[in-house]
Amino acid sequence: MNILLVYPENPDTFWSFKHALRFTNKKSSIPPLGLITVSSILPKNWNKRLIDLNVTKLKHSDIIWADYVFISGMYVQTESANDIIAECKKYNVKIVGGGPLFTQNYNHYSHIDHLVLNEAEVTLSMFINDIESGKTPQRIYRSDEYADMTKTPVPDFGLLSMKDYVGMNIQVARGCPFACDFCEITSLLGHKVRMKDTSQVIAELDALYKLNWRGIVSIVDDNFIGNKKQVKTDLLPAMISWMKEHNHPFSFNTQTSIDLADDKELMEMMIEAGFFSAFIGIETPDEQGLEDCNKVQNRNRNLLESVKKIQKAGFQVTGGFIVGFDSDSPTVFERQVEFIQESGIVSALVGMLNAPKNTRLYDRLEAENRILADATGNTTDSTINFIPKMDISELMKGYNNIIHGIYSTKPYYKRARMFLKDQKVPHKRNKKFEPSIIFGFIKSVIVIGIIKRGRREYWKFIAWTLFRRPNLFVNAATLTVFGYHYRTVFKIRK
Ligand code: SF4
Repeated sequence: MNILLVYPENPDTFWSFKHALRFTNKKSSIPPLGLITVSSILPKNWNKRLIDLNVTKLKHSDIIWADYVFISGMYVQTESANDIIAECKKYNVKIVGGGPLFTQNYNHYSHIDHLVLNEAEVTLSMFINDIESGKTPQRIYRSDEYADMTKTPVPDFGLLSMKDYVGMNIQVARGCPFACDFCEITSLLGHKVRMKDTSQVIAELDALYKLNWRGIVSIVDDNFIGNKKQVKTDLLPAMISWMKEHNHPFSFNTQTSIDLADDKELMEMMIEAGFFSAFIGIETPDEQGLEDCNKVQNRNRNLLESVKKIQKAGFQVTGGFIVGFDSDSPTVFERQVEFIQESGIVSALVGMLNAPKNTRLYDRLEAENRILADATGNTTDSTINFIPKMDISELMKGYNNIIHGIYSTKPYYKRARMFLKDQKVPHKRNKKFEPSIIFGFIKSVIVIGIIKRGRREYWKFIAWTLFRRPNLFVNAATLTVFGYHYRTVFKIRK
């Protein structure tokens, strides 16, 4: 059996980092973890090929080689997924769709041969059983059962062209104990945090290490600290030992809830294990907005202080922010800018509130007849899929004011300085020296420091770093490249 696994192209969004990648010799930030996990669940004697359209092209010879083309992706990749489907149809090759895009919108894909929905550990096994027992596979495989993560095999990292990615990724747990009303994670993956055993996580780190990967590893959990007890007593001690034994080959980033700030010991352990960054959904400094979306973990706390505590522990905090709540008043835009500027959160993902299907927010807005369209999955494309309470033009204007207020060069570099000023010099990491880093830096100097507008702020920032935080020069250079990406995505001239 020949299986072609195809991952659609990411559009140009905040998360694609396409404009930052041009300064590196990499083609994508992280690989398609879902598809390489699918590959590891498929029978060992089936042949597999992976085509990630973010790093390579799909050739017709690959399609005709395949007995089945497996496509997996997210809603934001719909356009590219549709192109892949059309291409496979041309050659009459059977298509299997899975992952969040098809699970959430399977009724849009009646032209696909097989839909293997929900979690692959459960439904893909049913598909395989049918094929191996000679039955005609069903059109749709679904299940309400959540996968037992302790049975998930090590992803087939060997299928990847590792040199094309900035970082590798692993998953430790699925599910989140919280219930933010705009979030589809809990409808897809549940409230119970299901963790892999520590031995599985270590086996994944071993696999990456043996494939000679060094550098960033993203732990793509919905909330890495969803099960704090197991993380603290079992997982982190094992990761700390493994990292020491292997001379610190990896740096980890992940997503957590803000209550990370309440546990000093947990933060210290994560830093010791090699974590350097955490994405945290802050959403809004407005208490009523937090109540609106049931963000209980963010309520009744000084959010700014919490962010500062996490930064002080050694993390770079990346923050998610939202406007468009029913309770948002016209002052919310200014308050969002103030909060972000004071926090020193350099990478702030500010998006319009959107209501994805299968969320409590969607159900409420649908009952109020306010849904206009499906959410695009790209929260920073200035679209909103429902009728907001605030006048839409005021909301759009306010949103644009935030984006310009935080991503124009002046406020951006101000935040970057604030962050670097207090940033701890990271633990020594065993990094491979790549000459491409030097070339990337030279290219960034030419583009950001000579050709583009906003040069003055760039050079002020570089000079400040050289005098005040020379040890963090590489981090500073990386931030200039991120800033360039954000300005390009949001079409900010300087
Ligand atoms: S904390 Fe994050 S993952 Fe959990 S429900 Fe809220 S938005 Fe979703």
